[in-house]
Amino acid sequence: RKECRGPVGLSVAKGRLEWTNWSLEQAEGHVEGLYADVGQGQRGEDGRAAGGPRSMPMFSGEDQRLVEAIEGDMLTVSTGVTFDDIASLDAAKGLLNEAVVLPLLMPDFFTGLREPWKGVLLFGPPGTGKTMLAKAVAGVAGVCFFNCSSATLTSRFRGESEKLVKCLFHMAAHYAPSIIFFDEVDALASSRGDEGEHEASRRFKSELLSHMDGISSPSGRSGEVGKTVMVLGTTNCPWDLDEALRRRLEKRIYIPLPDLAARTQMLQVLLKTVKVAEEVCFESLAEQMQGYSGADIRLICRDAAMMPMRRLVAKKSPAEILELKRTGQLDSIDTSLTLGDLTKALKKSSPSVGAGETHKYAKWDSDFGSC
Ligand code: ADP
Repeated sequence: RKECRGPVGLSVAKGRLEWTNWSLEQAEGHVEGLYADVGQGQRGEDGRAAGGPRSMPMFSGEDQRLVEAIEGDMLTVSTGVTFDDIASLDAAKGLLNEAVVLPLLMPDFFTGLREPWKGVLLFGPPGTGKTMLAKAVAGVAGVCFFNCSSATLTSRFRGESEKLVKCLFHMAAHYAPSIIFFDEVDALASSRGDEGEHEASRRFKSELLSHMDGISSPSGRSGEVGKTVMVLGTTNCPWDLDEALRRRLEKRIYIPLPDLAARTQMLQVLLKTVKVAEEVCFESLAEQMQGYSGADIRLICRDAAMMPMRRLVAKKSPAEILELKRTGQLDSIDTSLTLGDLTKALKKSSPSVGAGETHKYAKWDSDFGSC
């Protein structure tokens, strides 16, 4: 059912697939046995799809090519991101836990009145951690993640995006529990409809909407354990979003620019693997970063983190550095990141989000946001 990229395998115990540390060869025999036991594409006792990609019975020929392309370009079994990698944003993490993680883990509890949202939208200025949050949700829930960016859809799947959506939702159900993630969803389904809109884009949109209705219909979710598919989208331009899609992305969570506490925590998270001089006070640096996004702060930290190395290279040739390394003397040279490094990097940069733009997000949040 899952792709294996390391020394892992699957074992079958009491009708369940379990991760083991077997080699692929060892696991292969067992998976073959499993195919024989439950039949191609049927479901095991726990309701999960059994068998690998090749066992998907609903696709053949041309569509099988799409299945393979989606598996290659979009499907991630483990995103490797957790909430701990993301500084601050506690409210958003809490909401995502409730709106996405728990319904994926406990589908039998989220029925009736507690039925999960059709879709969840993360909106806010660029570089505030929306994509990271979406990946962390999949990481925390331990579910398959279909990452559909507008760039992949328009370049890789140009002209077949309608077919692709159909295939994508079928696959998401097959691999369920799973998340379908649309990065920059406004670019895929914008409100710039009318005459200017391309026919293919219109068809893509209506296909997307009908599948979103499908997964949230009682028969689509059916309360079957492990069968939940969630749709998650992000946008930097929520006002450009197609209205019908906006209505289906029922839970809309604002991810704003980081406040002082968030910026301080971000500096701590980003610089946790770097030797930092004692003189550096994260909070006073964060005060000077008002209006900077997480991505801006990351760039400043990256630039500053290179400065101790640049100082060393200015004094020593590569051959001398190699010799220091060989004789074990390199570790005794101070390569700490100084306050001067960070201040210099900060002065060279400017916030990527204009001051006026934040009002636009706050206004959209008060008009359409869920929180
Ligand atoms: P968005 O999707 O909102 O445009 P991303 O999630 O792609 O932003 O974030 C861009 C980069 O900024 C990330 O790779 C990460 O390094 C950094 N970043 C942004 N917000 C945070 C955060 N809250 N904690 C840690 N890093 C962050």
